[in-house]
Amino acid sequence: MKEAFRHIHGASPDGIWAAPGRVNLIGEHTDYNDGFALPIAIPQNTLVAARRRDDGRLRLHSAQGDGPVIDLDVADLNPGAVTTWGAYPAGVVWALREAGHEVGGADLHVDSTVPTGAGLSSSAALECAVALAYNDLYGLGLDAPTLARISQRAENGFAGVPCGVMDQMASACCTAGAALHLDIRAGTHEQVPFAPELEGLRLLVVDTRVKHDLGDGAYAALRAGCEQAARLLGVAALRDVSPTDLPSTHRVLPASLVPLVQHIVTENARVAESISHLRAGRVTELGPILSAGHASLRDDFRISCAESDLVVDTALAQGALGARMTGGGFGGSVIVLVDESRAQAVGAAVTAAFRSAGYRDPHLFPVSPASGARRIE
Ligand code: ADP
Ligand code: MG
Repeated sequence: MKEAFRHIHGASPDGIWAAPGRVNLIGEHTDYNDGFALPIAIPQNTLVAARRRDDGRLRLHSAQGDGPVIDLDVADLNPGAVTTWGAYPAGVVWALREAGHEVGGADLHVDSTVPTGAGLSSSAALECAVALAYNDLYGLGLDAPTLARISQRAENGFAGVPCGVMDQMASACCTAGAALHLDIRAGTHEQVPFAPELEGLRLLVVDTRVKHDLGDGAYAALRAGCEQAARLLGVAALRDVSPTDLPSTHRVLPASLVPLVQHIVTENARVAESISHLRAGRVTELGPILSAGHASLRDDFRISCAESDLVVDTALAQGALGARMTGGGFGGSVIVLVDESRAQAVGAAVTAAFRSAGYRDPHLFPVSPASGARRIE
């Protein structure tokens, strides 16, 4: 990392910062409905080596970006000014300045083991690593949730992706051996111990390696649908609808919005249920909750796809405790909770099922809850 930085930028970095990708155990599409989520950080990280510059230049390079150094003037950073991968790190600098922090330039070199575009939040990992680097380089003293919100602002306002804050909160605030209970409206987070290996379990990630184009427009449409439903129901956000209110929503809402509300309300309940099981040490009880979450995303929210459904169905048929698509939908990754004695068989069956369906081989790897963003040198 240091050698690469010296080669690209001609000097040594002031430090190296790391921020992880994430998988969300449960609580999907609930963040922009003011609700709850339960992500973990994964062991794959994005590293940023950085050196402060006092001439206002921001010079960006990535081992995954396969292009020359992007050279910008921080005073010229405006939404739309950068349209490549550089929009994520440049967006962080823009968002810090928008928030009134007088930060200047830097040389950055990025290298990552988080697969990009696989629903594992490589974008949030990149933003959070840069935000943390800037926090130290410029002595800002901002805490992790604030850096997460700055990173989300970068993605929304500069890169033009209308995501909620769950990914950035996970990357910034997770700790090893725990899942992160997020209450988005309250702005609070709490660590919930989660160590599947200690219970003889494995959490597998299956990257389907597909990303259907539908995803980008669909996200905005789903978000608008949820907001419209909240308005029609007379609540600030769907977080305010309780499971007992569900039957009566049919009378108020157009038929197309009812299943969206159904998903958000039951999903928030699944987060609460998962947390009480984890707190009581009943990790295996998570399995059926994950599978119910998948059914809700597939049938009510309608954002799954044939590849993700095939992973879930195959894993469950092979004795997995539970499985669900994770992330925004239309491809990306699936998580599978499985007894360690069945993990190999589940992996083999999923790969075989993909081959007979004519799909590309999926990428499978086990994860355990890892550390959030931190300085490593
Ligand atoms: P996800 O966050 O699920 O991986 P996104 O589409 O939100 O998918 O973000 C992926 C994009 O983030 C990439 O196309 C690229 O622009 C940027 N990105 C992420 N990691 C890196 C990296 N290490 N180097 C350069 N760009 C990156
Ligand atoms: Mg992303």
